[in-house]
Amino acid sequence: MKPKVWVFVEQEEGEAHPVSWELIGKAQELARDLEGEVEALVLGYQVEPIAKEALFYGAEKVYLIDDPVLEYYRNQSYAHGVTELCRKYRPEILLLGATTLGRDLAGSIATALETGLTADVTGLEIDPETKNLIMTRPAFGGNIMASILCPDHRPQMSTVRPRTFPLPEKDPSRQGKIIREELGLSEEEVKVKRVDFIPKEKTVNLEYAEVIVSGGRGLGGPEGFKLLGELAELLGAEVGASRAVVDAGWIDYEHQVGQTGKTVRPKVYIACGISGAIQHRVGMQNSDFILAINTDPEAPIFRIADLGVVGDLYEVVPALIEALKKEKSNG
Ligand SMILES: Cc1cc2nc3c(=O)[nH]c(=O)nc-3n(C[C@H](O)[C@H](O)[C@H](O)COP(=O)(O)OP(=O)(O)OC[C@H]3O[C@@H](n4cnc5c(N)ncnc54)[C@H](O)[C@@H]3O)c2cc1C
Repeated sequence: MKPKVWVFVEQEEGEAHPVSWELIGKAQELARDLEGEVEALVLGYQVEPIAKEALFYGAEKVYLIDDPVLEYYRNQSYAHGVTELCRKYRPEILLLGATTLGRDLAGSIATALETGLTADVTGLEIDPETKNLIMTRPAFGGNIMASILCPDHRPQMSTVRPRTFPLPEKDPSRQGKIIREELGLSEEEVKVKRVDFIPKEKTVNLEYAEVIVSGGRGLGGPEGFKLLGELAELLGAEVGASRAVVDAGWIDYEHQVGQTGKTVRPKVYIACGISGAIQHRVGMQNSDFILAINTDPEAPIFRIADLGVVGDLYEVVPALIEALKKEKSNG
């Protein structure tokens, strides 16, 4: 039997989280090196369209548990469903998104299956000799990258942050098998009931932004974000930040990019007054195009920038805003 590389497809309110597709893309590479196959798990209620979508993104087979008990996420019911599927089909690898839901679920599954779990990995590869999964993540404050193995237990489990791996292409002509499974748990057996659902008002969508204008300590104070906000608005961009300014209370944590913030992958990342510490770079170095504005020509951010402007952001950013406004008024 071919080794199975599994991806848990996260969905809420009938909508799949894109990190699931990013993981299917990565799982295809791992499966190639293992001579195995990529399979997806879809749990929920009335979620068959998501199972089909998983095939379009590259899963060869989907295990679907469609049950009213799974209408909304609860740790007990979802962990039960995934754990039982793992016991039945014995995957080599199980990947989940490092989202709030994925993190909550992964720990319970790993505990029930008595296997290891590596959280927030930034790299995954197959050891050519042992065929074990090498899971890489920053350790000791981001100063070293640790390679973690789980040689004696299966599945080898990881959670991966959104935007760590690229989104594969969706091909609606792709075919595959959808295998329906039973949950084997009744509503009466689930201890937690939902009494209300208040969706969090999402103001910042950094992870999936196409353009990000980001500010650091070089702004000199919280008012600097007004200027960046103006540039962001003209570009249809989101505003990001370094940890230094979040810690200083200049902007909310949800704007933070980096190891202890968000991982981003925009088409354009504009870093204003950010030195480019390793903990910041790991969160944004996969951006397609990086523009850095910094007064210090030796700033590490210039090492990864596609375009570097050595200068005062209070001269460069207003000039950029002016030029953009002019271009807009010229149609
Ligand atoms: C465990 C751990 C986790 C961390 N996680 C994160 C994280 O998730 N994200 C993160 O960002 N950091 C993180 N850090 C902190 C990181 O190490 C740096 O301290 C931080 O990124 C520095 O922020 P900064 O670039 O804004 O400030 P600084 O390093 O002080 O850089 C400010 C830059 O602005 C430039 N500048 C000054 N004035 C101007 C001007 N007028 N115009 C243009 N440029 C100017 C300066 O030349 C300088 O390069 C973490 C650290 C640790 C230990």
